[in-house]
Amino acid sequence: MSTRATSPVAQQQRVAVLGGGPGGYEAALVAAQLGADVTVVERDGLGGSTVLTDVVPSKTLIATAELMATVGGATELGVRFPGGPTGDTEPAGSVSVDLGRVHQRVKSLAFAQSMDIRARLEKEGVKVLSGSGRLDGPQALVVTDGEDAGARVDADVVLLSTGSRPRTLPDAQPDGERILTWKQVYDVEELPEHLVVVGSGVTGAEFASAYDALGAHVTLVSSRDRVLPGEDADAAEVLEEVFRRRGMNVVSRSRAESVVRHGDSVVVTLSDGRTVEGSHCLVAVGSVPNTEGIGLEEAGVWTSESGHVDVDKVSRTSARGVYAAGDCTGVFPLASVAAMQGRIAMWHALGDTVAPLKLRSVASTVFTSPEIATVGWTQAQIDSGEAQGEIVKLPLSTNARAKMLGIHDGFVKLFCRTGSGTVIGGVVVAPRASELIFPVTLAVEKRLNVDDVAHAFSVYPSLSGSLAEAARQLHVMAD
Ligand SMILES: Cc1cc2nc3c(=O)[nH]c(=O)nc-3n(C[C@H](O)[C@H](O)[C@H](O)COP(=O)(O)OP(=O)(O)OC[C@H]3O[C@@H](n4cnc5c(N)ncnc54)[C@H](O)[C@@H]3O)c2cc1C
Repeated sequence: MSTRATSPVAQQQRVAVLGGGPGGYEAALVAAQLGADVTVVERDGLGGSTVLTDVVPSKTLIATAELMATVGGATELGVRFPGGPTGDTEPAGSVSVDLGRVHQRVKSLAFAQSMDIRARLEKEGVKVLSGSGRLDGPQALVVTDGEDAGARVDADVVLLSTGSRPRTLPDAQPDGERILTWKQVYDVEELPEHLVVVGSGVTGAEFASAYDALGAHVTLVSSRDRVLPGEDADAAEVLEEVFRRRGMNVVSRSRAESVVRHGDSVVVTLSDGRTVEGSHCLVAVGSVPNTEGIGLEEAGVWTSESGHVDVDKVSRTSARGVYAAGDCTGVFPLASVAAMQGRIAMWHALGDTVAPLKLRSVASTVFTSPEIATVGWTQAQIDSGEAQGEIVKLPLSTNARAKMLGIHDGFVKLFCRTGSGTVIGGVVVAPRASELIFPVTLAVEKRLNVDDVAHAFSVYPSLSGSLAEAARQLHVMAD
């Protein structure tokens, strides 16, 4: 049996949360656990964009894409596909995707997850109001439309967690049918014949990779020299090489100026005048925070030029008693960070033990095929001298398990502090890199030495064996 750690401070407090994504609902759970009287105002559904339109749907779609990619490589492992166009060695002709069914699955998983979150909040005694809300000064929310329009929630502590939405280009307005944002792709019933993805950041790369694996022809338009400009350069290079090898058309150093629909096709015009014609276009050029029209200025909440709410490391805004978490703050656009900012806000506001937000050990993954997972300091920071570090990079092509699994692309990279050998970061490029990065995250968080990592057993044969090997090699270099 568990005992509840309610705090005497929290028991007299009313907490109002605007936005029910991970920034908001995780905060609500902490506040309820500490004994506060908590209300969440949410207009679309609990779980937020994270659950309803962004993370959960995209990763569910990618699960199918991943399976298709595995099937595509199966003949190398001796699997036969009778009925394929070139006999039993060609899976492409015999395996195809039913996108309508995939999207049904995506939507029902997202809905079920949202319902689970609602049930959990209600079980913990959190009140949920449906509708759009705004601040009415720093100590109240009002619901302006929706089911609970007109409701007012007076509060001692307010948390803003309104998230963000896709940025659009003035000359590329989404129509939900052929010109799409990442929230609209799940309403397209047929696999696009030729999908043009504008934007090669994390979201653009993930969707390009997924649709390519699902069988669509994909053109990826990147305004930079290479895809994933914000990621580890070696990892981005591997991915771009894989993309091109699979037949994706990667158009680099080209900015999309406009996207125009002509009946059943779209024409993307690039800044150099060239055009790309496709059947559909996905515009993935970043996000803008949902911070307009919610009474920030009147309540004394400062925002940056980009419209993000200014917060400190315990999620306080410029207005006393008003906190903010998640994408509306622009601190680090990840669900895990949003949730942590929200929890920290409540621990701080309600007088519990709290440590400021630390971003150094945030692990993140680009869910492409292969996946790219990173944590800690980057090679770019080491190369520029911002961090003093040693680097070991090992290709997976020499790893016994990778050979058995037919993995040809990818690597592990480990960074340690020069002299002390403390692990300060790493990169894994591999199928399921999102799972493999965890030991590196633990090492960074707990400041383990490369020898600590090297002395731990890894399974033979395993991909994680390459991480242990990298740690062993760093011992020699750190001497
Ligand atoms: C395609 C895609 C894939 C991603 N994949 C990952 C991933 O794999 N892992 C990861 O960690 N992150 C991922 N992210 C990032 C992640 O989605 C965000 O960082 C996360 O959603 C932020 O959570 P949040 O609570 O700030 O906002 P949200 O989840 O956006 O929630 C905000 C909520 O506030 C509500 N709201 C806004 N304004 C109001 C108002 N005035 N009144 C009432 N309600 C309001 C909205 O309806 C929404 O439900 C992905 C993002 C995208 C776009």
